Amino acid sequence: MTRIADTVSCMDGYDPNALRVDKARQAIRACMAPLQEVQLVKTREALGRVLAQDIVPSINVPAHDNSAMDGYAVRFSDLDPDGETLLAEAGTALAGRPFQGMLGAKQCVRIMTGAVMPAGADTVVIQEVVRAAGKQIAIPAGQKSRQNVRYAGEDLRVGVPVLASGKHLLPSDIGLIASLGIGEVRVRRRLRVAFFSTGDELASIGSALKEGEVYDSNRYTLHGMLARLGVEIIDLGVVRDDPALLEAAFTKAASQADAVITTGGVSVGEADFVKQLMAKLGEVLFWKIAMRPGRPMAFGRIGDAWLFGLPGNPVAVMVTFYQFVRDALLHLSGRSSGLELPLLKALSSEPIRKVPGRTEYQRGILFQEGSEWKVRTTGQQGSGVLRSMSEANCFIVLEHDRGKVQAGEPVQVQLFEGLA
Ligand code: AMP
Ligand code: MG
Repeated sequence: MTRIADTVSCMDGYDPNALRVDKARQAIRACMAPLQEVQLVKTREALGRVLAQDIVPSINVPAHDNSAMDGYAVRFSDLDPDGETLLAEAGTALAGRPFQGMLGAKQCVRIMTGAVMPAGADTVVIQEVVRAAGKQIAIPAGQKSRQNVRYAGEDLRVGVPVLASGKHLLPSDIGLIASLGIGEVRVRRRLRVAFFSTGDELASIGSALKEGEVYDSNRYTLHGMLARLGVEIIDLGVVRDDPALLEAAFTKAASQADAVITTGGVSVGEADFVKQLMAKLGEVLFWKIAMRPGRPMAFGRIGDAWLFGLPGNPVAVMVTFYQFVRDALLHLSGRSSGLELPLLKALSSEPIRKVPGRTEYQRGILFQEGSEWKVRTTGQQGSGVLRSMSEANCFIVLEHDRGKVQAGEPVQVQLFEGLA
């Protein structure tokens, strides 16, 4: 396997001590190849999975021309364009119970939505506009040829691919596959992701806090974020800042998972012994990323697993997860689209302090004022203030080269909807 350092060091603008966010993302992506293993699952169980085959219809959907409305199936050529036409009702066509005969001249068939168009009929007149005239049906002028008919293959056509390998399967896709009568599909194996928290100061829920301790919250936010990505989760708990314990944890995690995420232990004060340990176990790069929050981060490989060593601060964990880990995991999972989070524009309702030279992810509240979408920060932006993530509904993404923001200036936002 190529060394990570060899892959990334030749990248333009690669500087591990002042790495731009886009470069870090690019470096991670350059190293990784998607999982290839495939499973056959029942259509319903494919929800949220990554499709590992192309779906090419072998039937048309709908299979037959059918009515889009309740009304009367007619031959358009029978209708008088300038006045009422009287037609004889020859029978009924219901959804699933077609009219068996052939529509003759000056005949119509009572038809319901979804019923197969009778042979000979080409147009449906909605029931609201017709009039019963004795035993006949009176059709007013002004109908259009072929109106209210859904054609065979209008949704899906035999031989025309509809879903490509690499598609993340959503409810609409599952329904679409079902509409083709397909009961099982090939999907990529689910990614296995292990994680643990490091830190001597961490207490687990259930034990009383001793002096200087904090409850470990990172494993809970990580669990939540991973659960939303639909990966298999392996929670390896809290590990003390102890080389022997850390080595055991890394080895175990790497043997069980495709990717390992740790939090804490990569900041300047702590990184040294972790660095030595990592160098022994695999190949891990320690980066200082030009971003806030989330400056220190480790990326590498231990055994067969990718490693993301995230900072310890709770907000930095979430920011680095969403800016780097999320799309890396989706890429590994084999997803071919939807990896990048959209950036939208909103007007900042207040000035925001910012210095050029790093990308900032401030926690924002997007709100509507009149017809305008505006955004303000949640206030205190410390990387330990997890409340700022709960209060926010978006990141305000302040670009690398940007300086301070004036009130009323447009800024980029990344919505939390579907994320946090
Ligand atoms: P570190 O990156 O290990 O230096 O940690 C930075 C800060 O994040 C410290 O204040 C830690 O107490 C805090 N921290 C680290 N890990 C966690 C965790 N799992 N849950 C909550 N806070 C944490
Ligand atoms: Mg620590």
